[in-house]
Amino acid sequence: MKISKLFKEKKAVYSFEIFPPKINDDIGKIYKTLSELKNIKPDYISITYSAGGSKNSRTKEIAQIVKNDYNIEPLAHLTCINSTREEVADALRGLIDIGVENVLALRGDRVEGEVKSDFKYASELTEFIRQYSDIDIAGACYPEGHPESVNIVEDIRHMKIKVDKGVSHLNSQLFFDNDDYLKYLDMVRLAGIDVPIQAGIMPLVKASQFGGIVKMTGAKLPSKISRMYNKFADDPEALMEAGIAYATDQIVDLLSSGVEGIHLYIMNNAYVAKRITENIKPIIDKLNGVKQTV
Ligand code: FAD
Repeated sequence: MKISKLFKEKKAVYSFEIFPPKINDDIGKIYKTLSELKNIKPDYISITYSAGGSKNSRTKEIAQIVKNDYNIEPLAHLTCINSTREEVADALRGLIDIGVENVLALRGDRVEGEVKSDFKYASELTEFIRQYSDIDIAGACYPEGHPESVNIVEDIRHMKIKVDKGVSHLNSQLFFDNDDYLKYLDMVRLAGIDVPIQAGIMPLVKASQFGGIVKMTGAKLPSKISRMYNKFADDPEALMEAGIAYATDQIVDLLSSGVEGIHLYIMNNAYVAKRITENIKPIIDKLNGVKQTV
């Protein structure tokens, strides 16, 4: 199913992002995570591709399992900056051949030493995919501005080009300050971008995330989160509970503010996904008119 249909049917779309294990790691790990998520059934699962520039070809393999074995719609990420047009066409054809109907078109991370010049921006990849197929194309957006952009206004202007080339929904970079996110949405709408936007939420449940992924994205850490880290960094269980509580609170506030969806960066952690889903699913179901069973 195309994800654009989900946005037409639902007030709030709820999805997860997973990443393939490294090429030499056991692929069984991700299948174990997926089987633990089996009963949750998010609206779709996105699968990263080539993160950090690695040539990871397991995205397709995992997308196929998500679709056929778990009956969940996959959103396959696809990057372009380190690939030629032929390589991108091959990857795309591979996805379409296994029945993928949704692709997240990304520029990708720059890799030192890789000089391929067929694609510069995700908007060019979007245009390329659209010429090739009518599958749904999603794009990335950055509530605090993309780190390389001169300012947020320019970044939104570039995003409009991407959307005009055929992006039908946007997934946001992770963020921790809802007020900033809601102001960002106002700016995006004023710029004439009217496709659905899902808020990207990453539960901060491990001390390593603070110096790792969070630092990498440059996301602003509100003082509430810094206090949480300072207090519980050396107590994994307390940090886990505090992180789940923070993400739950953040999601409830976003749903109260009428966001069109939540995209949870679960970092392949089924336990965290389950706990957060238990907290928020009744609210999402209510919004979507799903009858509650007691
Ligand atoms: P773009 O939309 O091309 O934007 C990149 C920069 O170029 C921005 O600063 C933008 O303002 C600027 N720009 C865009 N168009 C123009 C123009 N016409 N003229 C001048 N400047 C322009 N990376 C991976 O490698 N694999 C993944 O699976 C992956 N998944 C992601 C999922 C999400 C939801 C997000 C938010 C990011 C993900 N990334 C992934 C990271 C992403 O590849 C990087 O953030 C990358 O630096 C930018 O990708 P983009 O598609 O947003 O680029």
